[in-house]
Amino acid sequence: MSFESLGLMPELLRAVREQGYETPTPIQAQAIPIVLEGRDLMGRAQTGTGKTAGFTLPMLQRLAHHASTSTSPARHPIRALILTPTRELAMQVEESVRTYGRHIPLRSTTIFGGVNINPQTKALRAGVEILVATPGRLLDHQQQGNLNFSQLEVVVLDEADRMLDMGFIRDIRKIIGLLPAQRQTLLFSATFTDEIKQLASAFLKNPALVEVTPRNSAAELVHQVVHPVDRERKRALLAHLIQSRGLEQVLVFTRTKHGANRLSEQLDKDGISSMAIHGNKSQPQRIKALADFKKGAVRVLVATDIAARGLDIDQLPHVVNYELPQVPEDYIHRIGRTGRAGSEGEALSLVCVDEQRLLKDIEKLLRKDLPKQVVTGYAPDPSIPAEPIENGRRSSRPAGGRPAGRPGGRASAPRPRRSGGRAE
Ligand code: AMP
Repeated sequence: MSFESLGLMPELLRAVREQGYETPTPIQAQAIPIVLEGRDLMGRAQTGTGKTAGFTLPMLQRLAHHASTSTSPARHPIRALILTPTRELAMQVEESVRTYGRHIPLRSTTIFGGVNINPQTKALRAGVEILVATPGRLLDHQQQGNLNFSQLEVVVLDEADRMLDMGFIRDIRKIIGLLPAQRQTLLFSATFTDEIKQLASAFLKNPALVEVTPRNSAAELVHQVVHPVDRERKRALLAHLIQSRGLEQVLVFTRTKHGANRLSEQLDKDGISSMAIHGNKSQPQRIKALADFKKGAVRVLVATDIAARGLDIDQLPHVVNYELPQVPEDYIHRIGRTGRAGSEGEALSLVCVDEQRLLKDIEKLLRKDLPKQVVTGYAPDPSIPAEPIENGRRSSRPAGGRPAGRPGGRASAPRPRRSGGRAE
C-alpha cells in the first residue's frame, strides 16, 4: 500500500514525501479514498494513528481546484471547517493543513479562545479556505458577523467525544445549523458511544465507517509499572525516580489543575525543571511550555488529561501517572503518549492506598494485572488507612497528600470534565 495508490495528487504526494512518510497508516489507507469520493465518514481513531493526515490530505485534494493566489477576500471564502475541542489540537491540525498543503495555494487559519480576537478577525476578513476552530470562539466570531459559510463544502468534527465531554454539544449543534445542508461531514472520535452515534445520525448522511484499533490498546509497546507508595511520599518518589534514573522528557499527569501547578512548583524546588500545562494557563504560556518541553529545555511537563489531549509529542519516552485517572479509559489515552512510532515507552504509575479501586478498574480494562514494584526506601506504610473520596466527602489536605480517586470510577463519579466546559 502506498500513498500513490490512494489516488492523491502530485502536490500532496510531494508534501507527504517531504514529511518522510513512506506508507499510509491504517486509518489513512481506509479514510483517504472514502473522503476523496466525497462521502461522509465516521472514523474511530485516536491521536497517534495518523488520523489528521487521513482527513486533511483528501480534503485538500477536494478543495485544490479552488486554490488561488488572488489577494481579493472574495476569492477565498470558507470551504472547510475543522472543529476541535482544544486550542492545542486546533493549532496542531492547522499546522498539518499547512504542511500537507504547502504546494497548494489554499489559505488556512485557526480561531480559538483565550487570545485577542482582533488578529483572528483580520485573518478571517482577508479570506481563508480552511478554518480550524474551537466551538466557543467560532460562535463569538459568528455573532460579530465575521463568518460566512455559504460556500462551505466540508466540515470535520475532530475528537468529537472530547467535544461532547467538554460540554460543547449545544455549540456544535448551533454551528452545524449555520452550514449548508449540502456538504461533506467527517466525524472522528476515539470511542463510538451512544451520544456520538446520535450526533452522527443527526449530522452525517449515510456515512462510511472506518475503525482502527488504538495504537496502544494492548499497550504492547509500553512498559507499564506500578510503584506502590504512600500518598505523602509521591512527590519525593517522583523526584527520586527522575534524578536517580536521569529521566528526561517526562510527561506527568495529575488529576487537577491545582495539583499540576503545585507539583510543578515543587519539582522546580527539587531542582527539576518543569512546567504545568492546563486550561487556566494563558495561551502564550501553554505554547511556551509545550515548545520548551519539545526542545528539551524543560525536563518535566505536568499536565491534566484535557490539556494533554491532542498534544503531538512523538516518541515520548516516559509518562508518569502521579495520580491515576478517575476514568479508566483516560489511562490508555495517557500512556498512548509513549511508545509511539515503534519506539518503546515507559509508563510509571505512583499508586497510593486510596487508589486501589481505580487501579483495579484500569487492570480490568487492560485485561491484565500491571506489575507492582516497590522502590527501595519508598515502601508504603501498611498502617495508613485508605481515604478515598466518597459521597462527596473530600479530604482537605493539600495536593500531593490528597486522595486521588473515587471508588466506583465511572459509575459513581461524574466525569469531571463535563462541567469543565470551556475552561480548558
Ligand atoms: P495524528 O494521529 O494525526 O495526531 O498523527 C500522529 C503522528 O503520526 C504525527 O506526528 C504525524 O506526523 C505522524 N504520521 C502521520 N501519518 C504518518 C505516516 N503515514 N507515516 C509516518 N508518520 C505519520
